[in-house]
Amino acid sequence: MIDTLAFDADDTLWHNEHLFQDTQQKLAEIVGRYRPGEEIAEALYAVEMRNLALFGYGIKGFTLSMVEAAIDLTASRISAQDVHRIVALGKAMMTAPVEMLEGVEEVLADVSGRYRTILITKGDMVDQTSKIERSGLAGHFDEVEIVARKDAEAYSRVFDRHVIDPARTLMVGNSMPSDILPVLELGGHAAHVPYAILWAHEAHDEDPVSERFHRLERMSDLRDLLCHLRRPGRHS
Ligand SMILES: [Mg+2]
Repeated sequence: MIDTLAFDADDTLWHNEHLFQDTQQKLAEIVGRYRPGEEIAEALYAVEMRNLALFGYGIKGFTLSMVEAAIDLTASRISAQDVHRIVALGKAMMTAPVEMLEGVEEVLADVSGRYRTILITKGDMVDQTSKIERSGLAGHFDEVEIVARKDAEAYSRVFDRHVIDPARTLMVGNSMPSDILPVLELGGHAAHVPYAILWAHEAHDEDPVSERFHRLERMSDLRDLLCHLRRPGRHS
């Protein structure tokens, strides 16, 4: 029996990854003035991965990685003015409108009265807090947790802190490595709702094999899944 619903935020409740992709495109235009036709995606990703342990997830770390990648790709020829443009791209991401995914508000309004609800997101504290406030969804959650990374240890700490039994919890999210696998590892249920674009870092090849793993086409399918899990005689 499920009594707690945990939700990821970025690309599960609201659009996020497109912001990074659009900004990366703008960075390519700036770098392209120095090296026409330069492919920057791979170089930027390599810098991001190198910096992840130092900067963590989020826009601020991404912005610093864009600056570093631009300096590398232009062999230090990039002008201070263009570095300033890159910093401005990062700042614009911080204040971009929060666009809700389809069906999210209806589903949250429906389930938040019937289940204990917790939002678990990783990334930068300032950025995530601001997005939660701007989304207008905060009132649907009993708890909000912003963590540095989403591994089994981090989920375990969150569940302990709020006295949540993973066996009675369903985590809903778009990332297999961040939202699904760690929760399954702890004995919880997890529902994967794929998002149209996936950051390479969150890519995962195969579905986990578990009775506690569920696949949803869209957020509005959550209600059917919850009905299914409530069926008498089903041990979940
Ligand atoms: Mg996500």
